[in-house]
Amino acid sequence: MEIGEYSKQAKKTAVYPDKGEGNFVYPALGLAGEAGEVAEKIKKILRDDGGELTTSKREQLSGELGDVLWYWATLCRELNLDPAEVARRNVEKLNDRAERGCIKGSGDRR
Ligand SMILES: [Mg+2]
Repeated sequence: MEIGEYSKQAKKTAVYPDKGEGNFVYPALGLAGEAGEVAEKIKKILRDDGGELTTSKREQLSGELGDVLWYWATLCRELNLDPAEVARRNVEKLNDRAERGCIKGSGDRR
């Protein structure tokens, strides 16, 4: 699915206070929460399953990553950012870093 189409579909299921009125706080908190759910499931794979990624756990992670995507797309919309443009610019930034040999390291502006 193309990211712009996904964003349109995600909008249909968005229900929260001040939706579509620049309420970036709600989806930002949701994004952090869902990213935490991904991390928690991976932590439990290490703790309970010896690091073995089963088909079931992979499916659960797929669901959580979908939740991350939903909040990401929703946050883009509340910030009046085009998700496809955000994705394009990220690829452009990473390709530039790769070409300059500075994928590793830290700092937003390297
Ligand atoms: Mg979730």
